[in-house]
Amino acid sequence: LAAKRARAAARIFCIANQKGGVGKTTTAVNLAAALAAHEQRVLLIDLDPQGNATMGSGIDKRSLEATLYQVLIGESTIAEAARTSETGGYDVLPSNRELAGAEIDLVQLEERERRLKQAIEAVSDRYDFVLIDCPPTLSLLTLNGLAAAHGVIIPMQCEYFALEGLSDLVNTIKRIHANLNADLRVIGLLRVMFDPRVTLQQQVSAQLESHFGDKVFNTLIPRNVRLAEAPSYGMPGVVFDPASKGAQAYVAFGKEMIDRMKTL
Ligand code: ADP
Ligand code: MG
Repeated sequence: LAAKRARAAARIFCIANQKGGVGKTTTAVNLAAALAAHEQRVLLIDLDPQGNATMGSGIDKRSLEATLYQVLIGESTIAEAARTSETGGYDVLPSNRELAGAEIDLVQLEERERRLKQAIEAVSDRYDFVLIDCPPTLSLLTLNGLAAAHGVIIPMQCEYFALEGLSDLVNTIKRIHANLNADLRVIGLLRVMFDPRVTLQQQVSAQLESHFGDKVFNTLIPRNVRLAEAPSYGMPGVVFDPASKGAQAYVAFGKEMIDRMKTL
């Protein structure tokens, strides 16, 4: 069994939503930490030049020798550039502002949408999960993420316009499925920053369930200030305050992901 586990290739997921501030990075960092707590080997790839997933994992984005940028342009491998998050218990392929320049550099390179996929293949047997924290744009960077992934996890707030924004994203995923990556599918919608006292949120949540059925994850992530405070301590919320409602919800979500993988 150990040998089988060592050979199996990682499952690769993008955390994506074309909107900013919807909880992508919070989900990526806390899912990584939750999966690590469930004894999974995890690589978190920071695909956003803002470097929030890097900082939120306790890695200083200003003092890096190699980042995702060097990997994408072929100057480094993931094995060389990845760092261990001491607080989170998982590996991070970090990023900083330099990554914004990759858009321009990539245009000139061959297989420009598949650079990340190729880089991940070299380390795929070292991990159970590779999570990719996407920026809120449909850039060449995001295309690299979506081209590399088996599936997309979509964090969303239960707001009035949530469904509208979702159809854009689902159409994008369909196009990528047709042109770039036939493996790609929506794994699930994750309701985040949920406040059950708000009637509208309950209504939108129920609407999501009736529209998308089992594509909606069972786990609900509540709005919880401890999750928002954790990044300034360079820690995932799951580690910063394990007893908090937000941390417990993400640990439950990690379990739900592991269970789903068994049925995929
Ligand atoms: P994105 O990566 O989509 O831009 P973030 O994960 O950075 O979104 O979240 C946006 C803001 O909302 C951040 O300040 C974050 O700390 C906060 N936040 C995210 N999820 C929660 C939550 N469940 N409860 C409270 N605050 C949250
Ligand atoms: Mg983000």
